[in-house]
Amino acid sequence: MYENASAVLVALSLLTLVLGVATPLLGETEESTPEKVILATTSVIWDLARNVAGDLWTVEYLVEPGKNPHGYEPTPADMAKAQRAAAILYNGFNLDGWAVKLLSGQMSGKMVRLTEGLENYVLKVPDGPYAGREDPHMWMDVSLAVKYVDRIREVLTEMDPENGAKYKANAEAYIRQLLELDDWIRRETSKIPADRRFLVTQEKAFQYFARAYGFKVGAYFYSIATEIEPTASDLVSAVERVRSSGVCVYFVETTLSRRTMETLQREAGGRIASSLYADSLGPLGSGADSYIAMMKHNVENIVRELLRWC
Ligand SMILES: [Zn+2]
Repeated sequence: MYENASAVLVALSLLTLVLGVATPLLGETEESTPEKVILATTSVIWDLARNVAGDLWTVEYLVEPGKNPHGYEPTPADMAKAQRAAAILYNGFNLDGWAVKLLSGQMSGKMVRLTEGLENYVLKVPDGPYAGREDPHMWMDVSLAVKYVDRIREVLTEMDPENGAKYKANAEAYIRQLLELDDWIRRETSKIPADRRFLVTQEKAFQYFARAYGFKVGAYFYSIATEIEPTASDLVSAVERVRSSGVCVYFVETTLSRRTMETLQREAGGRIASSLYADSLGPLGSGADSYIAMMKHNVENIVRELLRWC
């Protein structure tokens, strides 16, 4: 035994000499610290969180980029991720209630709702199965995404006060970029004449964006419940809204099927324009693989398509 231990010590010393690494002496091995993992329900929240966490936490998401978070069902792998996370950051307001329902019993970490305290900014869902409840898509207004970032900084600081100054610096640097983005969106969208400021999308996910940047929600098929097929009367009312507003440009969302929009186009004429991101980032290298890139992609497309018009 003693001999074995000596052999190990010799081997370790040699390794230190060869590699130049500081190897802990036997008996002095560091206590294994739990992995510092934060879990976000969506890729949008994931990106906001990693900008604050920097390299101090591993930040993971549950719903893959490009997938629809509405009505998502966590997998056994998600349950395992939840178990090792110190916190789950979720949006709340009828987007990712599945996380609270299915994961909270699986984990010792805390559940953090990023829309907490934002009640004064809420827009309600006008119709459909969630009528009268909160519309979850608050991150589509950059000034509200800033509030998510503030909340993430608070939570990380509570969990890891020693690094509070780092979280503060990270959040401040990122918020500066977000405020520049917000200004840029205002400048870009101001190029669109008032009578073309209509957003026809599949889901009413652009309500907060529309309020922040001076658009009208032209028509939609799903108020927010994209997990439920729209009814014939949802389609009829979308066609009527499009006809009465005179809008002829329709946007599809990357997480939803184009089929409903193709039906609208057959009935009402007009054209299907490019895809927009709402509930999810694009995959790595898509040009929309961060929150800022996704918002820029959307605004560039909206401005180009509405200036081109019919
Ligand atoms: Zn949505």
